[in-house]
Amino acid sequence: MELPPLHLDAQAICQALLRIDTTNPPGNERPAAEFVARHLADVGYKPELLEAAPDRTNVVVRYRGTGAAPPILLTAHLDVVEADASKWKHPPFSGIEAEGCLWGRGAIDMKNMAAMCTAIMRKLARDKPVLGRDVIFAAVADEEAGCDLGSRFLVEQHTDLVRAEYAIGESGGFSLHLAGTTYYPIQVAEKGFCWVRARVVGEPGHGSMPRRDSAVVRLGEAIARLGAARLPLHPTKYVKDFLEAIAARQPALVRPLLRMIARPELLARITRLVPDAAVARSFGALLSNTASPTVVRAGNKTNVIPGLGEFQIDGRTLPGQTDDDFVRELRAVLGDDVELEIIKSAPPTVTEPVASPLFDIIQRQVLAREPDAVVVPYMIPGFTDAKYFSQMGARWYGFSPVKIEKGSGIKFADMFHGHNERVPVAGLHWGTQVLDAVVREIAAT
Ligand SMILES: [Zn+2]
Repeated sequence: MELPPLHLDAQAICQALLRIDTTNPPGNERPAAEFVARHLADVGYKPELLEAAPDRTNVVVRYRGTGAAPPILLTAHLDVVEADASKWKHPPFSGIEAEGCLWGRGAIDMKNMAAMCTAIMRKLARDKPVLGRDVIFAAVADEEAGCDLGSRFLVEQHTDLVRAEYAIGESGGFSLHLAGTTYYPIQVAEKGFCWVRARVVGEPGHGSMPRRDSAVVRLGEAIARLGAARLPLHPTKYVKDFLEAIAARQPALVRPLLRMIARPELLARITRLVPDAAVARSFGALLSNTASPTVVRAGNKTNVIPGLGEFQIDGRTLPGQTDDDFVRELRAVLGDDVELEIIKSAPPTVTEPVASPLFDIIQRQVLAREPDAVVVPYMIPGFTDAKYFSQMGARWYGFSPVKIEKGSGIKFADMFHGHNERVPVAGLHWGTQVLDAVVREIAAT
């Protein structure tokens, strides 16, 4: 069949995917997965639809190489987080094109990537190049709720379908403009998570006789202590390398400041100088384990002092840190009379070594189009499908490229789970071309 040019194919697919509501929960990725599968079947593939639960559909497809080298995996999640339509300029599932952008929940996170990969696979089927590696594409469910029904299910139940030497997915490859220089961060590490239940027991009693030591009062105190605490700093090589690479191209005044951030004794002082609270927060998150109190529970009757209170902690752990290390840090803040129990955890994910033929190719292909840009490895404080795909040995690079023009008013970080999520059409075209070139080059070898 006749295909539109690659970049227009990606645009049309992206727009259509944005119009399919895959808000997770409940997810309901099936229509989006079927849409992707149909577009792949149209050009001769036999995509597989795989489900760990009804309508929580994953799609996997493979372009066959000669087998001279192990496969490369492209991946994107199909689910999105919820959107409060009342806060959006255009409805979040409209996929409308306006002001040079495609608007919709998932435009950046990450139906753009799903669309680019689908278009790239379609072009492979049309061009039929001889490649040394198989190219696998997995469009997955359930990333936004922890990956159990998506990447984790594929890695654990269908390993042979997705096993690869390299994987390209979330998150990175977007333009970051800082003081006159454009950077393209590539994700090579992400923090682990360690979710903890904290329990406080106290003497129960009647609400008419307040107790200073009630579980509720002590629960409040524990949460306040945790909220005010700053956990110890552990600068990792990922963050140092990132800051060093950023610093190298910054004005002479800023350079030493950036280099000092990785030094624990100076961080506190420097972050106080950072005017943007969000930026200061992200420095903290990149340099220490973090603990956010989230769910709080105690009592169910106004006139009864309950004997038990509990809260949950969303903990995030740095590379090099274990769950035990993290719990020890919590204990130092909360004391011994708060019981701590790990509910769920996964270790940090790191790509070793950071430099590789694929990293070099990504760098070269970006610079070929933007010679003044700087490609930098980086670590994200959250987690992605990298957590599971790298468990089967794949070296993960977060590279879902999109070019964002300086002065466009679009801040990449604000697009993730934010209102008015949108992808610049020209940036999507650019990303499709770069990603296609990267895939062709690494798969040819
Ligand atoms: Zn995402």
